[in-house]
Amino acid sequence: MEQTLTIKLKLYNPTQAKREMYQTMADRTTSFANRYLSLDKKERPKTSKDATKISEKLPSCVLCHAIRDIRAKKKVRRFKRLWPSFSYQNFRVEKETSQSGGAVWKASFPTLEKRVGVPIVVQSYQEKYLEMLLSGQAKQGSAKLVKSGKDWYILLSLTISVKEKQGEKIMGVDLGQIDLLVASVSGQALFFSGKELAYTRRRCAELRYRLQKAGAYRALARLGDKEHRWVTDANHKISRALIDFAVAHGVTKIRLEDLTGTRWTKQQRKERRRDHGRCLHYWPYYHLRQFIEYKAALAGIRVELANPDLTTLTCSRCGEVIRSRPKGRWFRCPRCKKIKHIDVNGADNIAQAISGFAV
Ligand SMILES: [Zn+2]
Repeated sequence: MEQTLTIKLKLYNPTQAKREMYQTMADRTTSFANRYLSLDKKERPKTSKDATKISEKLPSCVLCHAIRDIRAKKKVRRFKRLWPSFSYQNFRVEKETSQSGGAVWKASFPTLEKRVGVPIVVQSYQEKYLEMLLSGQAKQGSAKLVKSGKDWYILLSLTISVKEKQGEKIMGVDLGQIDLLVASVSGQALFFSGKELAYTRRRCAELRYRLQKAGAYRALARLGDKEHRWVTDANHKISRALIDFAVAHGVTKIRLEDLTGTRWTKQQRKERRRDHGRCLHYWPYYHLRQFIEYKAALAGIRVELANPDLTTLTCSRCGEVIRSRPKGRWFRCPRCKKIKHIDVNGADNIAQAISGFAV
């Protein structure tokens, strides 16, 4: 079985000149894409050599990749942004040993001037994948140079093959109703109540408010960094425990609730902004999901995203749908009389993907 992942690698402190060059590359790639689309189908360049005629200077492999990207996005009439991408032949990850004996990771790719080898920030959980890449256990896909916030990143896609598991055993994971996360498989459930996390988050929020009022911006930034590290660490622990639980129960597939933004109503978005991350409903689930996906991939477990509509309102045993969310922590089915913890009920519904899959 093959699993494809994308890892996000931050470019370490690029110089101002490099930043400007990356920006120029991104701007030129975008305008090339739009010029390409403005042409008659017959006149559109097919090769990078033809492409150079309608583009400002860019590495030919970037033009080549851009043509592929544009063609793949058939519905796009105009690109707001098309990032420069490199195929596996043109992008390399390298590992060097520093004078102190530590590892220094570098990304090497062509730019406007010459090929560069620039340092990248590699998180400990990403190292495994890069090692697999270097040893040939993982296959490298394309790499995209993107700007996010003030920083530049490489989005590197890679494919690893893992041993296919026999049979099918699905674990459902419900996110953030009463508990932070509940996993359920074959009548066994794993709970993360998240109470301590909520407590720490509230304390951080209070402190942040006081620092803001006092205009203590440096302390505020330090608090932000500290909180970020703490959240990342918590997400690692949760995802680790979740995958260990899945492996112990012979799970072959994890179905997760898809909570990525789109489902939120206007009201919820408003609440979320006001909440400033105090409430666990707005835990950084996106990152947690990424960690779960990474770790599941290594364990040979597939991850699917299920649509969460109705999962809290439906009896996971008989399929009865109730009108409103049950109060408290128990789901009591009016038809089959089953009583279940509402998050376990939700997780079991997600395992069955009762509302279909998210795309
Ligand atoms: Zn029922």
